Amino acid sequence: MRSLAVVTVLLSALACSPSGGSAAPTPAARPPVQDAGAPGIGDRDFPLDGNGGYDVAHYGLKLGYDPGRRFLTGTATVQASAKQALSRFNLDLAGLTVDQVSVDGAKATFDRKGDELTIVPAAPIADGARFTTVITYSGRPQPVKDSSNLGTYGFIPTQDGAFVTCEPNGAKTWFPANDHPADKARFDFEITVPKGLVALANGEMSRPATTSGGKTTYHWRERHPMATYLATMTLGKFELRQGRTPSGIPNLTAADPRFRSALDRLHTNTGKITDYWATVFGPYPFSSTGGVVDDFPAGYALENQTKPMYGGFDPDESIVAHELAHQWFGNSLTIKRWRDLWLNEGFATYAEWLWSEHSGRSTAETIFAGFRARPASDPMWAYPPGKARPGDLFNESVYTRGGMTLHALRKAVGDQVFFKLVKEWATTNRHRHVSTEQFVALAEKRSGKQLDSLFDAWLFQPRRPA
Ligand SMILES: [Zn+2]
Repeated sequence: MRSLAVVTVLLSALACSPSGGSAAPTPAARPPVQDAGAPGIGDRDFPLDGNGGYDVAHYGLKLGYDPGRRFLTGTATVQASAKQALSRFNLDLAGLTVDQVSVDGAKATFDRKGDELTIVPAAPIADGARFTTVITYSGRPQPVKDSSNLGTYGFIPTQDGAFVTCEPNGAKTWFPANDHPADKARFDFEITVPKGLVALANGEMSRPATTSGGKTTYHWRERHPMATYLATMTLGKFELRQGRTPSGIPNLTAADPRFRSALDRLHTNTGKITDYWATVFGPYPFSSTGGVVDDFPAGYALENQTKPMYGGFDPDESIVAHELAHQWFGNSLTIKRWRDLWLNEGFATYAEWLWSEHSGRSTAETIFAGFRARPASDPMWAYPPGKARPGDLFNESVYTRGGMTLHALRKAVGDQVFFKLVKEWATTNRHRHVSTEQFVALAEKRSGKQLDSLFDAWLFQPRRPA
């Protein structure tokens, strides 16, 4: 994720930057229920995000959207395995009307409260068992609007379709999800829209689009694990460009007709930057790359897996470099708790500086020195980026001081160790979950240096490092 407004101020000076559902029968009394899955996955900063007691392996989402009525119909097939005995469990779902739920083919009862959908299967699920939940639902999706530094996110209806960007917890605005990055899963999408529109989701098209009765159906498959916030079903009028990067990775880019003139440049930059990051961070972690420019003026870009979304602007190289670096840092390597967000945003911001350096513009050292010169009273120094705060998750410090942390590390261990370490980090943790503690441990191991005071000063202290 990168906002256009907040993060680019100094960099642009130095470099070249741009710019209620119905409820089924509810148990009458609610004594503590044995073997109930927890309503949150255990991130203390976001206590109701995700759910406990199971792990999702696959989402099969069959979706239809009518932009005229702004109406979504969905059938979600969620394959999961129980991590405890479950007499009931939750999914996250905001708004929309649930029509029916089944578990392993047997009708289940369910209950809605806030953004929690509680499902009571006909028979309890045994610890370790695999089970399949099918939820049919429909309604007018509403994006999340109350966020402090994100503006609007989730399923956002547009004039010709929808712009769908869900970080940190907006997947629940369009499908029932274990909506927290600690549970990644594979996805299949079957999306039906009025003929003439294009529906874009993650991964690759698993079969050609078919049109009948004035509607076109698109099939997409993301066969690598993906966090729910990276899923998309952005749809509307799009011009597409299909090809390969110079090294041969399939590359699909798209632009709303209003941004037609941006498409060639996006396509070329996406190809060359994806390939360059593969030389710096190790092999590209997914089966295709790409990017989408829609006309919704989001004021930010989001690194949706395999298809970053640029909301209403023609992206320059710097922001493309940022979103594509996230394919490694955030998408392949995924955080288990949001307070580690600097592992996504600090790396993606530092990637912007590396791209600037690679392109013969300002070096990372020059950019670092510019930020380092900010007065001690600058708010960035009061916000420790290693503890991203739930109400101010995307604070500039998480980006800039996060990136500065990596540059301070690079200076402490030298270029050779630093770049080897970054590549090892991305390669050995490919498609896994990571934490700050793991990164610090690897940095110390590979450099042979005691680095706790460096990381403590840059990540955890509410003041400018000495
Ligand atoms: Zn970002």
